[in-house]
Amino acid sequence: MGKWDIQIYPVKSIKRVRIVRRADGFYVQFCVDVECKEDVQSTGQEIGLDFGLEHFYTDSNGYHQPNPRFLRKAEKQIKHVQRRIYKKQKGKNGRKKARKRYARKHLKISRQRTEHAKLKARHVMRSNDLCVYENLQVKNMVRNHHLAKSINDAGWRQFRSYLEYFANKYGKVALAVEPHYTSQQCPDCGAMVQKSLSTRTHTCKCGCVLQRDYAAAINILRKGKEKIDAERSRSIATSGQGGSKVSKRKPRNARGVGSSTHVGANLHEQLPTLSLESHGFLSK
Ligand SMILES: [Zn+2]
Repeated sequence: MGKWDIQIYPVKSIKRVRIVRRADGFYVQFCVDVECKEDVQSTGQEIGLDFGLEHFYTDSNGYHQPNPRFLRKAEKQIKHVQRRIYKKQKGKNGRKKARKRYARKHLKISRQRTEHAKLKARHVMRSNDLCVYENLQVKNMVRNHHLAKSINDAGWRQFRSYLEYFANKYGKVALAVEPHYTSQQCPDCGAMVQKSLSTRTHTCKCGCVLQRDYAAAINILRKGKEKIDAERSRSIATSGQGGSKVSKRKPRNARGVGSSTHVGANLHEQLPTLSLESHGFLSK
């Protein structure tokens, strides 16, 4: 992934060519069939990610990845540009122009978001062997009409696709778990601590006090590891090879590709297209 000249690919590997119209012009997409793998050293690190509104994500080490500033800026600008459409008279040229400006603004933001998601996902999958995150519910997200959140939601979905893409590329594991109770459970003692969305701190009777999203990220990582262990013991049971002496890393890597394709089966096909387009082979 990244910037490549289309000439380096044999013509046979170009599977599909599409012409796409965007707000700022026409683009040609080349869908190229290439094996996209890279040997990356195992780090022995594992991470859980909680996607939140306050931060882009919070990880199970307590690190908060801030929301990119362009999202906040974008929200204001988009509202402004959108208002200007309605100030112009219907059917007049001014309105057409205003609408174009609005579409271009959206396009710019989506490109910035793509670059941001790619960069962060690449970093996460390079520095960790396992990454667990929430299986976000698209239904809930569509229902939400708040602009900032909807921009964020799209960002997460894309971020997640890139996590899966890089996991596959680097031979690592990206895994989604159901988000149930991840924000309520105590990561120390497992007790349920009910809290509303506005409660930002997890405080448990056992003495555990953590920032809410940090606690959730720890739970997410734990759930992911449980899922992997369950799958591993199941596969050992069915293979019947008495494989209690499976080395720790091999099976996980082997399954890694499997579980990441399981989560987003057609993503590996889609993403290269996405990335090629984002760099615009037909430059403006
Ligand atoms: Zn506790």
